[in-house]
Amino acid sequence: MMKLQYAITWVFYLSSSFSYASEYSKRLSAKISSVISPKFYSGKDHRGVSGAGTGGPDSRVFDGYVYGQTPDFHVQRQMQQQVSHAEQANANANANANAHALPPIPNPFAPKAPTPVPVSKQHELPPSPMIYPPKLPFPQWLTDFTGLHEWPGLDPPYIPLDFIDFNKIVPVPLHPQASCSAMTLRSPSSCSFDCFNCVEVDDVYTCPKLSQTFDDGPSPYTLKLLDALNLTHTQTTFFTLGVNIVRFPEVYQLAMRSGHIMGSHTWSHKFLPGLSNEGIIAQIEWSIWSMNATGHHLPKWFRPPYGGIDNRVRSILRQFGMQAVLWDFDTFDWKMLDHSNMRNEEDVYNDVRKFKQERMRGRGGAGAGGVSGGGNGGSAGGLILEHDAIQRTVDVGIEILKNVVGGGKDHQLTVPKCVGGIDYIKSFKRD
Ligand SMILES: [Zn+2]
Repeated sequence: MMKLQYAITWVFYLSSSFSYASEYSKRLSAKISSVISPKFYSGKDHRGVSGAGTGGPDSRVFDGYVYGQTPDFHVQRQMQQQVSHAEQANANANANANAHALPPIPNPFAPKAPTPVPVSKQHELPPSPMIYPPKLPFPQWLTDFTGLHEWPGLDPPYIPLDFIDFNKIVPVPLHPQASCSAMTLRSPSSCSFDCFNCVEVDDVYTCPKLSQTFDDGPSPYTLKLLDALNLTHTQTTFFTLGVNIVRFPEVYQLAMRSGHIMGSHTWSHKFLPGLSNEGIIAQIEWSIWSMNATGHHLPKWFRPPYGGIDNRVRSILRQFGMQAVLWDFDTFDWKMLDHSNMRNEEDVYNDVRKFKQERMRGRGGAGAGGVSGGGNGGSAGGLILEHDAIQRTVDVGIEILKNVVGGGKDHQLTVPKCVGGIDYIKSFKRD
């Protein structure tokens, strides 16, 4: 029920403000020959890290993926150009032909001073995408690969990828959020986290040290958090939304340059177990492309919106070489935003303190928002879920950093440090 409210809040926030974008995304149906983007997986320079996680008995690095059969992207690119030249010309022609019927697209090259958000709104609403349209230029390599010229809206188009094997996708039935009654979902083979807190061997859901993580950014409010993290020499993990990355690329880059780990939180915050396989792939691929275009890297760590993950979603995620990162303590910081929840900052601090004390006592307790059975054998660690898209949750995050969990070098750990894993699947040299 509570998750449903969150869903509604999000759907309202995203859809109302992105309607202009979803309109033009409808035309983006170009089917491009299934090749890997030149800046996507090349299969080279992949640093393998085996097993040996330290994030608890069930958290480990799972790194045995084969990233498609892509010997050399230059060769592949030539092949793409030969094979799909006609297709691409077609797609471009279609896109151009339809362009006049669409609402004006914000020019990403136009200099933009962000319009200040009225002070009275700052505590209640995330920044409106209408005020902050996509700012990041759409890179040429992505046009070459997709045939498109603009960042998509809330419903990104599915672009086939030749390393995704649909035969490897586990057939778990689709389910809407908070709809967990189907018997098939109860099967251990479905392993739904959003329904039953089920985790698989390659899920990360805890950490040897109590550590914060932040979802839904980047946002203008992230800057304040970055200042606080910097002052306390603390590194953290951000799970970012593609739609926000293209609006606030400079915030993303600042966070990255400050040494924080940038993870994926999908393109537009959809509940993945309710999407088709193609819909899930689209949410992941566009997220990765926006991270690649902004940070010149491919993410390793992925947090599903609303914790919505089952073995169907995992079997797709693994083919991207990524691993799910869940949590064992939910601050429910977003509940402060709805007065009917009667939750305020003090409640959040108290719950985190309680969780910390329980872990310190070695009970492995789950705390108010914890995952039952997810204890880590008496260590004082844990992985805390927070949000950096809204000022009020950022302020709470800073207070938790300063006075509840504490900061300092390696006082908290980033997700890869939690499990002894790699930061990114690949980092590219800047052109
Ligand atoms: Zn989220």
